[in-house]
Amino acid sequence: MMGFSRAVREELARILPERRCCQMAELAGLAFIDGTLTVQGYELIVGQAAAARMAYRLLKQLYQPYLEIKVRHRVRFSKHHVYTIRIPNQPLLPRIVGSLRGVHQRYSKERWGKPCCRKAFLRGVYICRGSLTNPRKNYHLEIVTDSFQQAAIIQGIMETFDLAPGVVQRKKHVTLYMKDGEQISKLLNLLGGHSAVLQLENVRVVKGVRNQINRLVNCETANMDKTLEAAFRQVENIKLIMASGRFASLSPELKEMAGLRLQYPYASLKELGELLDPPLSKSGVNHRFRKLDVIAEEIRKEHAE
Ligand SMILES: [Zn+2]
Repeated sequence: MMGFSRAVREELARILPERRCCQMAELAGLAFIDGTLTVQGYELIVGQAAAARMAYRLLKQLYQPYLEIKVRHRVRFSKHHVYTIRIPNQPLLPRIVGSLRGVHQRYSKERWGKPCCRKAFLRGVYICRGSLTNPRKNYHLEIVTDSFQQAAIIQGIMETFDLAPGVVQRKKHVTLYMKDGEQISKLLNLLGGHSAVLQLENVRVVKGVRNQINRLVNCETANMDKTLEAAFRQVENIKLIMASGRFASLSPELKEMAGLRLQYPYASLKELGELLDPPLSKSGVNHRFRKLDVIAEEIRKEHAE
């Protein structure tokens, strides 16, 4: 089975931005840390197959240059590969290098430009240098850079989206990291990793509600359990619907019901009904939750691969 981190990277590398501005920004993100100009041309040397594929696709899409690609083992017999995408010296080269540098310089001067391009740039950086722990273990996302200057630029862009990564130096590398499930989910959403977000949200909801239930079970009577089990499932379904982007298309009645459940995770159906204006019977409330269950089930089926 493919690791979670790699699955996320592969998902992100399947996105090809529509607009040329974003394609350029994503290529600049891929080349931000791992691209260099040499005597033979411009080289992008990456350790991720997804990054190599993405760079190849974007270069072909944007410029149709002549390209050379090399794959070698990092160490003899190791599973790790190093991919070199080289744009050998050719008339197009100065234009390509000029465009890449243009993006890097704009961001280093905090001229952030359009959000669409900033997202694409971050996606490029993430595909090359990002990784994520399986959320079942803990929440940890990181992007490894080679200098404080690089880290600061990436951090600056993230801040424009209200993301606040930490920065830590480890030997030669300066690493940006996030340990908050909500922030990680927000970043993956920005990057377009929607099935990653869905998986992450599922784990988050299960973890969160389990903790709530565990706390309560210690002091509540046993007949509370059934109510809590149902509430647990309802909250899980609502968050799943939200994470899938379907929430906006719900009817106002269902949205109201969902909102109340999130606000009062422990309330009984009768209590929730009384909070509505006009009040609704227990069976009326139950009916609405059944509709939400059906929608959540549809989403699970769509994403069960
Ligand atoms: Zn753009």
